Amino acid sequence: MQPITITLDGREVSGYAGMSILELARESGVHIPTLCHDEQLSPIGACRLCIVEDEKTGALMASCVTPLAPGMTIKTSSPRVVTHRKTLVQLMLSSHPDSCPVCDKGNRCQLRQVAGEMGVSLTEFQRIPQSSAIQELNPFIERDLSKCILCAKCIRACQELVVEGVLDYFQRGFKTKPTTVGNLPLENSECTFCGTCVALCPTGALMEKEWSNRRTTGNIVESTCPYCGCGCRVNLHVKGDRLVQATPRWGDAGNHSLLCVRGSYGYDFIHSPDRLTRPLVRMNGNMEEASWDEALKVVAAEFLRIKNEYEPDSIAILGSARCTNEENYLLQRFARCVIGTNNVDDGNRLYTAATLAGLSVSLGFSQSSHFLDVLEKSDVIMVIGADPTSSAPCVGYAIKRAVKNKGSRLILVDPRRTKLSLFADLHLQLKPGTDIALLNALAMVIIQENLLDKEFVSRRTDNFSSLREALEPYSTEYAENVTRVPSEQIVAAARLYAKARQASIVYGNGITQYCTGTDSVKALANLSMLTGNTGRKGGAMIGLQKECNSRGALDMGMLPGLLPGFRSVTDARARGKFEALWGTNLPTRPGLTAVEVIEQAKLGKIKCLYVVGEDPIVSFPGTRVVRDALASLQFLVVQDLFLTETAKMATVVLPVASFAEKAGSYTNFEGKINKITKAIKPVGDSRPDWEIICTLVDKMNTPFSYSRLDDVIQEIEEAVPGYEGYSDSTRRHKNYENVADAGRLQGVQLRGFACFSPVEYQAPFKAKPKGYPFILLTGSALPHAGTGTRSLRAPRLRKLCPSGFLHVGEADAKKLALHNGDKVKITSRAGEIIAPVSISNSLPKGILFMPSTFPEIPVNTLFEISLDPQSKTPTLKACHVQIERMDTHD
Ligand code: SF4
Repeated sequence: MQPITITLDGREVSGYAGMSILELARESGVHIPTLCHDEQLSPIGACRLCIVEDEKTGALMASCVTPLAPGMTIKTSSPRVVTHRKTLVQLMLSSHPDSCPVCDKGNRCQLRQVAGEMGVSLTEFQRIPQSSAIQELNPFIERDLSKCILCAKCIRACQELVVEGVLDYFQRGFKTKPTTVGNLPLENSECTFCGTCVALCPTGALMEKEWSNRRTTGNIVESTCPYCGCGCRVNLHVKGDRLVQATPRWGDAGNHSLLCVRGSYGYDFIHSPDRLTRPLVRMNGNMEEASWDEALKVVAAEFLRIKNEYEPDSIAILGSARCTNEENYLLQRFARCVIGTNNVDDGNRLYTAATLAGLSVSLGFSQSSHFLDVLEKSDVIMVIGADPTSSAPCVGYAIKRAVKNKGSRLILVDPRRTKLSLFADLHLQLKPGTDIALLNALAMVIIQENLLDKEFVSRRTDNFSSLREALEPYSTEYAENVTRVPSEQIVAAARLYAKARQASIVYGNGITQYCTGTDSVKALANLSMLTGNTGRKGGAMIGLQKECNSRGALDMGMLPGLLPGFRSVTDARARGKFEALWGTNLPTRPGLTAVEVIEQAKLGKIKCLYVVGEDPIVSFPGTRVVRDALASLQFLVVQDLFLTETAKMATVVLPVASFAEKAGSYTNFEGKINKITKAIKPVGDSRPDWEIICTLVDKMNTPFSYSRLDDVIQEIEEAVPGYEGYSDSTRRHKNYENVADAGRLQGVQLRGFACFSPVEYQAPFKAKPKGYPFILLTGSALPHAGTGTRSLRAPRLRKLCPSGFLHVGEADAKKLALHNGDKVKITSRAGEIIAPVSISNSLPKGILFMPSTFPEIPVNTLFEISLDPQSKTPTLKACHVQIERMDTHD
């Protein structure tokens, strides 16, 4: 690209075509004040504070929207420019309320900062009083539009970054305000309260509600959101011992900059009165407070007794993808070295195991293949079995940006109408659980119409002829019959996907949480390989991850068959490496997966269970079976933030520190290793999980050699591939860049060939049993996450979505004469629950939906235990049910 040279404040500087004067000035270290500009938003020149003067023509122009032209001679702070800027600030102040001394924005107000910088205090202009009622009915945001300076940052962020489109200008002239479409209160609009507009507002027009002493900035600590696998980076604002606010880390390298409602307002659980603050030990049937020494002595003694009296494999450890990398590493080492068992697994078994099992066979790598930004480079995106707008909102934002701003075409495969339906070119509303029939039919159309990437298939893949043969029965007519998706839509989707220059796939629990989940992942990989997207075209396979450290827990070896770095426990060489590192012999037999542990406990073979950060009573299928299994244990110890349903059954409960009270790292779904930093001291007498594990090991007389967390980090850097130098942020970001450049297809490149896996469609749940005419789908509901342990204890999130519900489609509700709020009994072959009805226009006939977040309506009670034979993931996504009204509507 030909450089463009201009003179800037007497200095010759060069930029490129399309670059604005403001961009070049900032790049050259020249400060130009702005109020409406942000590098992540399209420039609009609204505030005009960035005016500069072209010495040759005398023109005054807004530098943010004026592109470079050869030979320009720009002055950024000539007397004329400065005078005009002062006038502009005075004009803004003339219609700004006199409330600065009491405004909660305080010294963080950018208008005030700019005025101070220019020496503007009083305005000569006639004051134009602005009156606007403060709106604050919603739990999160306070709006005082009298302080608005019309910079439109909130509007642009909502439309361009979050692509919610809730905000726009309303009215004209002096009455112009940014507000919701139709000027509705935020709580009655489509606003998801992601907090982006609040974070960007330069004045006190948009403020966060309800955090104490707002004008006191306090301490700001860099950390990572502990909810979903997006791993968004946050600034935690601390005052004394309290975390008072969280804001996005704008422009942080390796960060998506945005947050969702959970990331912005979901940390109140830290100071919940429900927090466990002291260890509890059951004595004579009652839970009683104990010292750490007393509690850990009991745990150590019981572990040793059971290990010696029975065998190491009579003990199992259930960890959590909510714990840090370091804690997961220590926990699996504890299981293998101290107890001597591979019975170590975590909640990933319920969500991510099918991805691991499927992708490692097909593609040779076991996790998402790309960074999130690949979506905005893809001209086609297929979203299947996922509603990222609620489960992984930052992925949802990226998909919407790709469609709206980059013209990508979206194929949505989902039985329900979700927010993404509005963005989809094609919405294939298939019957739940029939994904494999659909995916096979798509592959068949691609082959029959000769749309496959022959070069990639012949040079870089194995097993094509078997796939071709296995796909024979999957005509579009057959698929229509099974899936209820019209043939013409199947053909259109296959053509759209196959003809794309680059097509990516985003998938979620909607395909992995079935007993056919691994086969569905393989069918997706087949599509990606057939079209050369995995490999040549650079299309991604992105599996969404439910927890903040799903990927890291797997990397650290929280798997019954795999050591850290995915090395098999049956591989003598791999074992030898860790035996040398840890100075002990390791068990050779693969252990039990999470749900198998429960089954074996019920049979009396598992005698002791150590649960760290999981709540199997709520998150596992077959609630009754899980309760019975836990009741039959000789010893149950639970380590958690709260007295969960599982903790209530324990002999010992150990209180842990939250993410804000400890250091460590999480690995997000892209493989980025993000630091968490201790921002406040642990609440009460709680301790970080890693510290508890190390003390427990000491008490069992087999101490680890770590004296501090850094020792653990150093060992991970040496022992786990991909984690080299991760504690050094400069090196970490360099690694990201290298990996991004390499396209991240390490597995395929290492092995050389991807492998087609023919898969057969089988109904994932038993044929409709008589008397159970509905299919109940489960999933997530913003603003909650996981089993709700944390988000339900964040009062503001709870206000937004206070309790569980059963979504019933309009047609079914009419037929059953159901109204909003009616209580219904939902019965399956496994159990029954009661829930209030919420009528929804997002469901086709015969399909119901319920979020699985609310322990008071334990939806997993309705599921029998049915495992995917390959990944051992239980079916938790859909089951047949009957509904019956409990009360009458008047
Ligand atoms: Fe980001 Fe997920 Fe946290 Fe939302 S919940 S802020 S998308 S990491």
